[in-house]
Amino acid sequence: MKKLTKRSWAEPYKMKMVELLKMTTRPQRVKAIKEAGFNTFLLKSDDVYIDLLTDSGTSAMSDRQWAGMMMGDESYAGSRNFYHLESAIQKYYGYKYIIPAHQGRGAENILSKILIKKGDVIPGNMYFTTTRLHQELAGGKFVDIIIDEAHDPNNEFPFKGNVDLEKLDKIVKKYGAKKIPYISIATNVNMAGGQPISMKNLKDLRAYTKKLGIRIIHDMTRVAENAYFIQQREKGYQTKTIKEIVFEICSYTDGATMSAKKDALVNIGGFMATNEWDVYEEARNLVVVYEGLHTYGGLAGRDMEAMAIGIEESVNDHHQRARVGQVEYLGHKMEEYGIPIVKPIGGHGIFVDAKAFLPHLTQDEFPAQALAAELFIDSGVRTMERGIVSAGRKANGENYYPKLELVRFTIPRRVYTQAHMDVIAESTAAVYARRDKIKGLKMIYEPKYLRFFQARFGQL
Ligand SMILES: *Cc1c(COP(=O)(O)O)cnc(C)c1O
Repeated sequence: MKKLTKRSWAEPYKMKMVELLKMTTRPQRVKAIKEAGFNTFLLKSDDVYIDLLTDSGTSAMSDRQWAGMMMGDESYAGSRNFYHLESAIQKYYGYKYIIPAHQGRGAENILSKILIKKGDVIPGNMYFTTTRLHQELAGGKFVDIIIDEAHDPNNEFPFKGNVDLEKLDKIVKKYGAKKIPYISIATNVNMAGGQPISMKNLKDLRAYTKKLGIRIIHDMTRVAENAYFIQQREKGYQTKTIKEIVFEICSYTDGATMSAKKDALVNIGGFMATNEWDVYEEARNLVVVYEGLHTYGGLAGRDMEAMAIGIEESVNDHHQRARVGQVEYLGHKMEEYGIPIVKPIGGHGIFVDAKAFLPHLTQDEFPAQALAAELFIDSGVRTMERGIVSAGRKANGENYYPKLELVRFTIPRRVYTQAHMDVIAESTAAVYARRDKIKGLKMIYEPKYLRFFQARFGQL
């Protein structure tokens, strides 16, 4: 008889509608990946069985959110759904003023234009692609102040999203506080693999910036996932709810941008928030130019309603336990098969170390790209490259050679089951067993910008 050693988590929902998937054969998948130039971004989603390309806009909405869609008030101005969204943000995040936007980058554009002047410096806990680009387009320069541990895939530090306050102090001394309009702080840092910042670090940062009068702007795209890790790992937070932790995180910051396509469980949407009247007033001016009137910001009324409901569902303890629990379940399965993954396991996906997986390939043979293609051929699981292809070229035309050469398995929220996780881990293990036979790739078409989206490859 098996001894009871644990009590499992399970999804705090059940299914009442399903989306049927196309099941393909190996020859069909070989043909599909060849036609896609061995780039998973160029596959047709109809040919994909389990889609782990991204967790952005790919979550399943609840019956309550769908019901909310039917309650859309599509008036041009003053939609009731805007007021519902505004009150949800005030209640769960505590920010005073909000401006909706079509998605995260729309909010980043407006906020960057308001706060950043030419020559300004914006320190942050690791860059994010769109966030940094908008800071640069507004005339600023991003400087990374994340702790060194974040750049090491084998370092198991529990808060790899933390700010190195000494690095920050050096930047402040070098440029002066006047040149720093804000510190850009992401919760559950995406580019570090979904790694959290601790409440203690955030409090210390608040104390430091308060003295100097520097704002903290919060990229809160994955704030609830960060709150879950604080609850699990940080002293004094075990008895606090995710709601309480999320609210406390936001209280140490002055404003925020959010892509609601992640944590907040919608397919499209975002917003910016601020506690400063002047910033809000200027944002109301700019949003009309770039997104739409300040009570819809590029969204339909129904989208704002789904977002308001999604925010409430995202700060539920049972939801987050199942969400992160599923990611951890997949990660532990992979570890059992000896597959090299980035640790600690993050909040939104598993990152497989392609350099360790395919040590016979040089980085110029695109190991992560080749591995993502091979996984698709094996089982129809779609992952994506985060390595030399994504890193692109320097201004002088040379390739960047990033330290990390990873394949990202991003898990959409509330979409797949534990059985899907088993299939993913077993497929990865099957590919791992025949890893010596996996060939590298050569790039045969390279676009000018963000090449990973549209580059084409051939087998060596
Ligand atoms: C996705 C994302 C964004 C940008 O949001 P979009 O909705 O894709 O425009 C900004 N920051 C982080 C951390 C993200 O993950």
